[in-house]
Amino acid sequence: NAPLLSVEKLTKHFPVRRGLLRRVTGAVQAVTDISFTLEAGETLAIVGESGCGKSTAGRTILRLQEPTGGRALLNGRDIFALSPAELRAARREMQMIFQDPFGSLNPRMTVREVIAEPLRLHGMASGAALDRRIDEVLSMAGLSSWHAGRYPHEFSGGQRQRVGIARALATNPRLIVCDEPVSALDVSIQAQIVNLLQDLQAETGVAYVFISHDLAVVRHIATRVAVMYLGRIVEMAEASQLFADPRHPYTRSLIAAAPRPVASGRVPQVPLKGETASAMAPPPGCAFHPRCPFAQDRCRTDRPELRPVGDDLVACHFAESLPPMPKETAGDES
Ligand code: SF4
Ligand code: MG
Repeated sequence: NAPLLSVEKLTKHFPVRRGLLRRVTGAVQAVTDISFTLEAGETLAIVGESGCGKSTAGRTILRLQEPTGGRALLNGRDIFALSPAELRAARREMQMIFQDPFGSLNPRMTVREVIAEPLRLHGMASGAALDRRIDEVLSMAGLSSWHAGRYPHEFSGGQRQRVGIARALATNPRLIVCDEPVSALDVSIQAQIVNLLQDLQAETGVAYVFISHDLAVVRHIATRVAVMYLGRIVEMAEASQLFADPRHPYTRSLIAAAPRPVASGRVPQVPLKGETASAMAPPPGCAFHPRCPFAQDRCRTDRPELRPVGDDLVACHFAESLPPMPKETAGDES
């Protein structure tokens, strides 16, 4: 059976133009050759530091910007090959949830209008049926018809994100790309929204691409995790596997550097050193080599391919021979 979503060698490079003549002088290699599949009802988290290309990957998969290369098959149809009219129709199947759900929306729209918009756009409901559907998705998102007549800015961040979720759900999509959906919220509210997303997935079978820099959140929601570094996936595994036994030195550093529960009293043993390099000039060989404690000569010249190592996919020449991660830094609690 074909997966719901199959991303094949997705690449997105942004030309950099300089000077009076706006000559192309380089390219930001935001995303290069990333591939993964996603089944219905599954959550693939894409994690990495700011600037690693994870948001660009999410936006490009939905073709909110044009790819440089690759394919993204949703139910076997290549999103990148659709005509503008076909793409508009396909948007019903794939939605996005943003960190700031109303940054791009007209502040004069009521919640009702915010949710009605995609339904009208796709000709899915009008009149009484439209009102019923709006009430239905509000209730699915933990809101009520009382909220429909208010303005999003009247609500707290958590309630606004519920409205964003209701809007994304309205057309009953099969795929939702969630880009840092809880990063702007208080920690106590984050858990509520993450649990809501999980409940809605159980109810509707929707699949999520869940983009986040927050490993605690990812650990809670992800079925599988793809770790990105400078535009490429460097490790991909089942979430439980990845957190119990991370294979790539970068994944290990990320997990070790993640905030510990205060009660554990533990400190990171493998702090992530150095700045992430520029996506305009990724280091040759393994792009992580300037920061990698295990780097050897070969790492400076040969780029490691993503390849099977145990049950994971890992892009590291020495994945099999690295020392086991020290127990006190393994992310196995909480
Ligand atoms: Fe480190 Fe080399 Fe592995 Fe890259 S390939 S992660 S530099 S050991
Ligand atoms: Mg981002």
